[in-house]
Amino acid sequence: MNLELSEEQEAVRKLAEDFVAREVAPHVIAWDRAENVDRSIVKKLGALGFLGLTVPEEYGGSGGDHLTYCLVTEELGRGDSSVRGIVSVSLGLVAKTIASWGSEEQKRQWLPRLTSGEAVGCFGLTEPGTGSDAGNLATRAVRDGGNYVINGTKTFITNGTWADVVLLFARTNDAPGHRGVSAFLVPADTPGLTRRAIHGKLGLRGQATAELVLEEVRVPVDTLLGPEGKGFTVAMSALAKGRMSVAAGCVGIAQAALDAAVRYAGEREQFGKGIAGHQLVQELLSDISVDVEAARLLTWRVADLIDRGQEFATAASQAKLYASEAAVRCANNALQVFGGYGYIDEYPVGKLLRDARVMTLYEGTSQIQKLIIGRALTGVSAF
Ligand code: FAD
Repeated sequence: MNLELSEEQEAVRKLAEDFVAREVAPHVIAWDRAENVDRSIVKKLGALGFLGLTVPEEYGGSGGDHLTYCLVTEELGRGDSSVRGIVSVSLGLVAKTIASWGSEEQKRQWLPRLTSGEAVGCFGLTEPGTGSDAGNLATRAVRDGGNYVINGTKTFITNGTWADVVLLFARTNDAPGHRGVSAFLVPADTPGLTRRAIHGKLGLRGQATAELVLEEVRVPVDTLLGPEGKGFTVAMSALAKGRMSVAAGCVGIAQAALDAAVRYAGEREQFGKGIAGHQLVQELLSDISVDVEAARLLTWRVADLIDRGQEFATAASQAKLYASEAAVRCANNALQVFGGYGYIDEYPVGKLLRDARVMTLYEGTSQIQKLIIGRALTGVSAF
């Protein structure tokens, strides 16, 4: 794998870095405290092509390779994970899945709107009673003539209150031993679909996380994404690529932790000298830097495998597992460098730690990633 960025990749990375400095960084503390990122950011992300990366240009996407997608995701994650998550879900989990599984009509209906930022997508898999064991979901879609009637509840849905379209997973077959899950593209304004914002999150506070309740939601048969009964495969294929995006976001958090800790260590004095000159502070900094580089290399490897058309799912789990745990360690080590100031939200590292923590939970907890990797190594499923 060539680790040198092309001129074009570096230009897009720089575009994202400048965007964050201009449109995100000045608002990070206020958005976090208010539990609300300004929704106008979506159209700005779309205007720069960040919501269409890797999506073919004929559907309004900006094309490009997966390494470029990682670079942009890292820069957004470095600035604000709440903003990064909007892209990882609306583009990474929804638009890219429509591009892979959608009919021509579905691609024309949703992709230009999602990639421009005119519309936002959310991914509705998790339910109150079903998280890690996602295939066991209880939401049901029953065929009624030319429609499906859907009933159920989804929870912890990123972009949930903002979304115009829900990529929704529901059971369509109850036969014993049959996974029987199907994927649907449900317009968020369909009667019977209600949304409730979830507040009080430890991190990602700016993100519009919601519970979705579906009561007698009636959608036409042509909202099925992929074949009936293949929804679990659709979900798992979306999450495998999604894990690369989460990993890239974690690299961004870890890099932000390193930048902040090095800067602060260069400014703060204790015992008559800069704390950067204390060996144990240097140990903290060096530990962070090794985690940053290792997480980045694992993440880029996934992008390289995808772009070369190779099998990447296990590598994506390895990258997501390592990068998420590393992001927590890096933010925590950076907080230690800041001492008591790290505990106050005027300084960046406390938020980095809060935002990092969820990365070990969603799109498969660390335990679930280990089971995926273990299954690939042994051929034995230990779920
Ligand atoms: P559980 O599955 O109940 O797990 C609890 C504990 O048991 C964990 O430690 C887990 O690792 C462990 N465990 C479970 N099974 C096993 C096993 N077989 N072996 C060993 N340990 C096991 N979901 C969506 O569908 N769309 C979204 O957009 C979305 N966004 C989210 C945003 C946030 C902020 C959060 C917090 C969650 C989001 N989620 C979303 C849900 C997320 O994916 C789930 O929370 C996650 O998959 C874990 O499920 P759970 O919370 O039900 O935990």
